[in-house]
Amino acid sequence: MTMIFVFIAALGLSLQALVGLAFLISCVWEKEKRATVFAGIQFLGMLGLLLVFFFLNRAGFFQTPVGLTLLVLGLVLAVLASFILLRKKGINPKALEGSKGLITGEVKRQDEREIVFARNRSLRPGSEQYDRFYSEHPEYEAFDTRRRKKGGPLGIPGAIDRPHEGPNIAGTLASVSIPVHLSTPDKVKPQISPPLKKNKITLTPNEATERVKGYARHLGADLMGITEINPLWIYSHRGEIFHENWEDWGKEIVAEHKYAIVFAMEMSFELVGAAPHSPTVIESMRNYARGAYIATQLAAYIANLGYPATASHLRHYDAVMVPLAVDAGLGELGRLGYLITKEFGPRIRLGAVTTNLPLIPDKPVDIGVQDFCKICKKCAVCCPSNSIPLGVQTEVNGTLRWKLNDETCFDYWGKIGTDCNICMRVCPWSHARTFPHRLIVTSVSRNRIARRLFSVMDDVFYGKRPKAKAPPKWAQFSSG
Ligand code: SF4
Ligand code: SF4
Repeated sequence: MTMIFVFIAALGLSLQALVGLAFLISCVWEKEKRATVFAGIQFLGMLGLLLVFFFLNRAGFFQTPVGLTLLVLGLVLAVLASFILLRKKGINPKALEGSKGLITGEVKRQDEREIVFARNRSLRPGSEQYDRFYSEHPEYEAFDTRRRKKGGPLGIPGAIDRPHEGPNIAGTLASVSIPVHLSTPDKVKPQISPPLKKNKITLTPNEATERVKGYARHLGADLMGITEINPLWIYSHRGEIFHENWEDWGKEIVAEHKYAIVFAMEMSFELVGAAPHSPTVIESMRNYARGAYIATQLAAYIANLGYPATASHLRHYDAVMVPLAVDAGLGELGRLGYLITKEFGPRIRLGAVTTNLPLIPDKPVDIGVQDFCKICKKCAVCCPSNSIPLGVQTEVNGTLRWKLNDETCFDYWGKIGTDCNICMRVCPWSHARTFPHRLIVTSVSRNRIARRLFSVMDDVFYGKRPKAKAPPKWAQFSSG
């Protein structure tokens, strides 16, 4: 019997040391200096424990009553710790209701004209729309006038990296042009292709779901889910104008489709790691371009099956993306105001296609984000413009959430010339999905004690205010 206990303990300690080694390799690969030091110390400790164990076994210690008692005690503690950290504990039933679980009062549909981007990008001083908007909403005018002077969403693009931002801004602007090209009416609301007109394709909802998801994956979507659309998340009025189609400004947006296929593209861990410097904005725009590419082709695919479909991407949104993504089971809403997914954390961009093609909806998920965010607060601590609340969730337009101050956030973008993304970079869910991080996310998404433990460990290993990392050489910004 002692031999069996010794074998199990040796196996457990070896596995632990292997996971420790994997974590050390992961930290080196992630270029995380501080975490590499701590992971190295941790690995040496595990290795030392294993060597002491083998030494004691060789010396016959575990054959003695004291040695055997300690061995059994160690095994019981190890089993107990694994059980405590991996069992499903701390379920949030509200998360399983999706966006409905966030609703606590009367929700007014969001008017796209009031979005900070639409106000600053679309409204031109002296235009009829400008005068109309600010006569109805004088509360925005002073901020918008001041912000507009800084220029576009990014102010002076790459200002934070001057004078070495040139190539990175060239890359950013190269990608920006793609969603603009793909936002004309024929692209966002495609018609059936002429050769297919006589052959409407019949598919069961199961078949259609499989086809649509397979095609979206083939086009490059990293995550996808389907939801029946809650009309509350459809914008009430159009506010973003990109093709001089001013007749659309202020038009009511009608919820004409039953389903949304929501998809996410993973953003590069390496480029987001340099946030708030210019490599991160190349990556944001590359993924918005990917989103436009996927959304417009997926909409055309569905139109060719004989059903109406509309693409939602950076230059044409009919709906607010995050609640749709929550309902489609892609993840949960985090403190930083973004969707947090189990696979990539908030390190994603979202796109969608709405349609009446009958599909099978997915279910919302509970991955422990709301509970984790209550303890963590790292994004709020690190936000340079204090735009993320440190306190508890409050009711905003009938929903209980942490309210991002999009005005101060947007103002900060204008100052640094990028879309910042510090909150995305420092979020513990954003780590590269190496094997050890997958293991941690599995534990965190199941268990509330693990959330507390790993939130503290994240601070220890990565620091309370993790620093930006050097980007790959082609995207460097500081050495000319
Ligand atoms: S993008 Fe930057 S400024 Fe905006 S909320 Fe995140 S950390 Fe704060
Ligand atoms: S940094 Fe922490 S508090 Fe902020 S969204 Fe991520 S997990 Fe939540």
